Amino acid sequence: ASAASLALTLTACGQSGEGGSKEEGGDTKGATIGIAMPTKSSERWIADGKNVVADLESKGYKTKLVYGEDDPDQQVSQIENLITQGVKALIVAAIDNKSMNNVLQQAKDADIPVISYDRLILGTENVDYYASFDNEKVGELQANYMVEKLGLKDGSKKGPFNIELFAGSNDDNNTRYFFGGAMKVLQPYIDKKQLVVRSGQTKLTQVTTLRWDGGTAQKRMDDILTSAYKSERVDAVLSPYDGISIGILSALKSDDYGSKSKPLPVVTGQDAEVASVKSIIADEQSMTVYKDTRELAKVASGMVDSLLNDKKPEVNDTKTYDNGSKVVPAYLLEPVAVDKTNYQKEVVDSGYIKESDLK
Ligand code: BGC
Repeated sequence: ASAASLALTLTACGQSGEGGSKEEGGDTKGATIGIAMPTKSSERWIADGKNVVADLESKGYKTKLVYGEDDPDQQVSQIENLITQGVKALIVAAIDNKSMNNVLQQAKDADIPVISYDRLILGTENVDYYASFDNEKVGELQANYMVEKLGLKDGSKKGPFNIELFAGSNDDNNTRYFFGGAMKVLQPYIDKKQLVVRSGQTKLTQVTTLRWDGGTAQKRMDDILTSAYKSERVDAVLSPYDGISIGILSALKSDDYGSKSKPLPVVTGQDAEVASVKSIIADEQSMTVYKDTRELAKVASGMVDSLLNDKKPEVNDTKTYDNGSKVVPAYLLEPVAVDKTNYQKEVVDSGYIKESDLK
């Protein structure tokens, strides 16, 4: 469509991209969009899948949604199948961000645009756009919460406090942004010895948690408590994700933390999962980072709709996310720190979690 006729079409539809199909000449009307999500083991990805499907269907598309069960090979062959089945665009939340080279070349050869969903796919030119949150800010929110709660931020306490550090999966590009954002805040306190990491494990390579697995984190916390906290106590734990926080809390509780004489440390999290919001209400987990994944789904499906209608998707970041082959234009949403004081407003009143699910 010429720019003029496109503009007319868009005006007629009332809003950019509404309606979702080319008025003339295109073959996108009723096109099928492939959506590859990483796992059903965490609520957020189940919700992401549902929301992307609903948004695309409301724009007139058909969808095929697959889950890779945290197995990178399975996810790659699922995407190959989607390509064979003739999808017109792909939305991919990768399990292993470096495993997509070949399959995305197949997508390119078939002229299928690719949106990297939440997690940036690395090492290939064949990623068109990236829809995510400000991932560095996620880590900053977690770490700021820790130093505020410990009283270091306003100087009311000097420490030293004992902290331990957990990061996400090493094959997820977000992991280094979350951890990097957190360490930007924590490192100055570590340098001044106001924060002490008794395990000595401070490098990203020492603290990652393969596939974000809560059981793996629980085991590592158990080991740390046994080896580094014989007589000392841990005051705060940086956790990147609610499932990991729940694992860490289990290890702490089996070491008698949470009893009258041994309070639980500050424990962070991410995703505002129901189990963790309940844990926050019960004064166990301290906070989580809420990311409204309904908005993320809208951004990603809007990008697809724009691309299939020869429009440029809206972006708000064109310099941060270099995937090794190119800087991928991105639309980044804002994460929000949530604890007992604001969970009602942020996650319940907004309709993200039903009040009855927290009972
Ligand atoms: C997402 C987080 C999530 C984690 C584990 C990350 O890529 O950005 O929201 O907690 O994966 O599923």
